[in-house]
Order: sequence, then structure tokens, then C-alpha cells
Amino acid sequence: MGNWDLLGQSQLSSILEHSFNQGRVSHAYLLVGPPQVGKRATAIKIAQALNCDSNNKPCGSCTPCNRIESGIHPDIQIIAPTTDEETGIQHIVVSIKQIREMERISYLAPYEGNYRVFIIDSVNSIAEPAANALLKTLEEPPPNVVFLLLATNEATVLPTIISRCQKLEVKSLSEEDMLELLRKSHAMEAADAKLLAKISNGRLGWALEAARNPAVLGDRQKAVDTLIKVIDGDLEEKFKVSQELSSFHNRDRKKLPDTLRLWLSWWRDLLMIIEGNPDLVFNLDWGELLKKRQSFFTSREIANHMQELIETIEYLNQNSNPRITLDVLMLSLEGLSATRSEYAPLR
Ligand SMILES: [Zn+2]
Repeated sequence: MGNWDLLGQSQLSSILEHSFNQGRVSHAYLLVGPPQVGKRATAIKIAQALNCDSNNKPCGSCTPCNRIESGIHPDIQIIAPTTDEETGIQHIVVSIKQIREMERISYLAPYEGNYRVFIIDSVNSIAEPAANALLKTLEEPPPNVVFLLLATNEATVLPTIISRCQKLEVKSLSEEDMLELLRKSHAMEAADAKLLAKISNGRLGWALEAARNPAVLGDRQKAVDTLIKVIDGDLEEKFKVSQELSSFHNRDRKKLPDTLRLWLSWWRDLLMIIEGNPDLVFNLDWGELLKKRQSFFTSREIANHMQELIETIEYLNQNSNPRITLDVLMLSLEGLSATRSEYAPLR
């Protein structure tokens, strides 16, 4: 009996335990579940089970298990969207270049373990050429290779890819389970655990990060409060925020881009809601805030504004004058909200 205990995922744990005990290993798994519920943690567990030295796989304590846990096992690779070196902005999807590189490496024998494991985080919305390259690899899988494909939304994965994988569902935790886990396993104060259990919407990964680092919650809330002030406020209010943020930027060069990236994520979520994909919303606790404003903007306007936000972050990283750069952004935002009369009541 290995240590399959996946936090809050008892059903999934027993499915995996059973199939690995029977020696039934698939060459590809599709792990589907909402953002930050534990898909990557599950993938790591599978990678450990495949390469564990103990009889009780995955033991979680042998050298391979430890190396995999620490992210330093040479046969385990995580393929995730890369970050643009200049803007610091994360690309949204895994590129074809990454898939081709993975395919090339997959034909090399494992370096020190039993299996090479590729964790693709995620296969959502990957472009067609990349999806086709991946499909080709899945159709002719090299020996001793296991592919773990992570997805938040099955609908955006090619059906032909899905059909090549064994599907595993990683579910979000119930508020009660989350509360119990945070209280018992992480010895959290009752009030803190309750709050996190509420706003984490079953995403254990996020709750643990927020619990580990209290600034996560505070900064996040501050940034979204400021954004709402900017959206709902008049031009004078917008310029005031611009002045505050830019004066702060001269002391801390990281905070303003971080704030703008969070704004970007807010607009992205709003776009998902407008486009009828509420299940793709990252910041689930902003649901009400987002829904209230969904009728004020069109998808096109949001997409344009997101592009402007990305450019603003680029300009800031190129040492542009923060005040001027932000004022331009504020003017464009004012242009958006000023065009609709129904916006007035929120002022
Ligand atoms: Zn082990």
C-alpha cells in the first residue's frame, strides 16, 4: 500500500491506488478539474508512484520520491506556458515549440528512473498545430514514458486527445472538507480557516498558498479594490489613483506591475463571464463583483483594454515615466466607461 493520500481527494486516491496495485499504468492521463484544486499535486504523486524505489509506491520518502517532490528529478518535466522575458507576462498557452521539444526528449531513455514523465500544465486551448503535434506523440507513445495532461476545462481539449488518455477527475473540495483540512492538517485558526474555506472555492492549492503567506490575501484585495475604484470613479479619481500608484512605483518597481497583472486577471475573468465560460474564471471569489459589471463592457472593449494593460506593463518594464504611462491607461479606461449611459448609477 503506497501513500496515495491526496488531500481531500479520497475517491481519486482509491482509484489510483487500485489501478497501480493491479499494475495497470496508462501511457497518458488527462487530469481534469478547476484551477488550483490539486491537479499538479496529483500528477506529482503519479510521477512518484512510477519511479518510487519502495515496494509501497508511492512511498513519498525514498530518494526518487523526494527528488520528484523537490522538482529536481531529471526524468520528470513540467511543461507550462513560459513567461515573456521582457514583459514578465505569462503566455496563456503551451507553445508548439515546447511540445516538439517534449517529443524529442520523450524518445530518450529515462535518465535514472523507470519512467520519463511529462506533466503538461495545461492542455487547455493550445493552438491547433501544437495540439496536433501532441496528438501524434500520444498516438505513438515511446516506451517508458507517461504523459500527464492537466486541464481545467475538458471542452477546450481536442476530443482526439481526450480519447487517447485515461481521464481522472480532480474535484474541488467542499467548504466543509476544506475547513476541516485547514484546521486539522494545517493547524489554522478557526476564523482564518473559515475565510479561506469560503473564498478559496474548493481550491486547496490557493488556500494553502494564502495560508502560508498572509500578504497574498491582503495584496490581492487591495489591488482589486483599487481597480474597482478606478472603474467606477470619474476621471479625477482615476488620475488620483494613477498618482498614488506611480509614486509608489518609484520605491518598489515590482508592486505596480504585479497590481496591473492582477487587474489583467480581473478583466480576463470578466471576459470569460461575458463569453459564457464562467467555469474558466480564476478568481472565483470575485464572482459577484464581476457579474455586476458584465453588462457594462463588450468583449472587444475588454480585449482591447487587456492589450493596453499588457503594453502598460511593457512600458513600465522599459522604465517609462510611470505617471504618464498610467495616465494614458486611465484615459483609455475613462473612454470605455464614458461611452455607456447605464454606467452612471454606479458612480
Ligand atoms: Zn518512494
